[in-house]
Amino acid sequence: MTVLVINSGSSSLKYAVVKPASGEFLADGIVEQIGSAQVPDHDAALRAAFDELAGQGLHLDTLGLVAVGHRVVHGGKAFYCPTLIDSELIGKLEELSPLAPLHNPPAILGIEVARKLLPDLPHVAVFDTAFFHNLPAAAANYAIDRAVAERWDIRRYGFHGTSHEYVSQQAAAFLDRPYESLNQIVLHLGNGASASAIAGGRPVDTSMGMTPMEGLVMGTRSGDIDPGIILFLRRAAGMDVEDIDTMLNRESGVRGLGGENDFRKLRACIESGDENARLAYDVYIHRLRKYVGAYLAVLGRTDVISFTAGVGENDAAVRRDALAGLTALGIEIDEELNALPSREARRISTPESPVTVLVVPTNEELAIAQACAALA
Ligand code: ADP
Repeated sequence: MTVLVINSGSSSLKYAVVKPASGEFLADGIVEQIGSAQVPDHDAALRAAFDELAGQGLHLDTLGLVAVGHRVVHGGKAFYCPTLIDSELIGKLEELSPLAPLHNPPAILGIEVARKLLPDLPHVAVFDTAFFHNLPAAAANYAIDRAVAERWDIRRYGFHGTSHEYVSQQAAAFLDRPYESLNQIVLHLGNGASASAIAGGRPVDTSMGMTPMEGLVMGTRSGDIDPGIILFLRRAAGMDVEDIDTMLNRESGVRGLGGENDFRKLRACIESGDENARLAYDVYIHRLRKYVGAYLAVLGRTDVISFTAGVGENDAAVRRDALAGLTALGIEIDEELNALPSREARRISTPESPVTVLVVPTNEELAIAQACAALA
């Protein structure tokens, strides 16, 4: 039994063929540059993915596929459980597109072409907002005019939920402790980045909000800014909404400050003496430490802090700098353990550290495949 997982973005389509029971990946890959001459649209991208699979001897009709799982970024208020996709659901997802204009429309395109090419399989939408659906009201609400918030469904939804849930469960399994017994902070640091606080298995806060722009400094997104900046840019700088959107989503974050969003390149720039790259890194770390401090306070008692995703799993300096000097708060990193590269879940705190610090590789495709298998 296998599941095809599709993560369809505006310019790339990621795919994986996964055995949900064993966690085995038969194949995974990415088709990039959608919109180019070679890959003009999402239909061509998915066909290219199927060609790549066939090139590896994997033919869709003999793989034992039981479902196709689609990552959908925004489920709005209505959707959180993994949901079987039909035309009605697609219509409702289209209505949600204004909430996630960069993410939901390409996901819908991916769903439509996959349903066309694989019409006999159940297609399942797995929402990135799902895990945070029941955030406590105090964390989910913005302190803005209540009538406006209700009219427009403005609240904090949170994203990367599949990853935060998977990583926190893996952390509990690694420590051989019941999930419900642990208070955890998960730091998902990829190109997008988010933090969550999970009390006894229940998420109680997360750094992304109504959109994936809030919170931590990211590869190309600003994270938290004074909302007055947006008003100022409209009124005084004459930028229109699309310009501001592009700047905050694509031209900000560590790239906006330091010229690079890939931490390997950013590090090389810092080492060659680039002051802007240094500032970008310092702002990134400062924000990360602020969120860790905030979530220690939100949780009261913290058992585990886990780092995950591209930066969190691979960049030992980010982990060290984010948690340096916090012994008074119960956090003590073992520099040697932290510096050891590995693909496995591992502890990087000292045995004496009251808070256990882990690196836990995320696996959103596996989590999506498992959610689909449970439904199919
Ligand atoms: P996303 O899924 O958000 O695109 P990933 O979780 O794959 O992101 O993370 C991608 C980022 O991880 C890259 O932009 C880069 O900054 C960082 N990264 C990947 N490998 C390394 C590494 N070996 N050292 C430092 N950073 C890394």
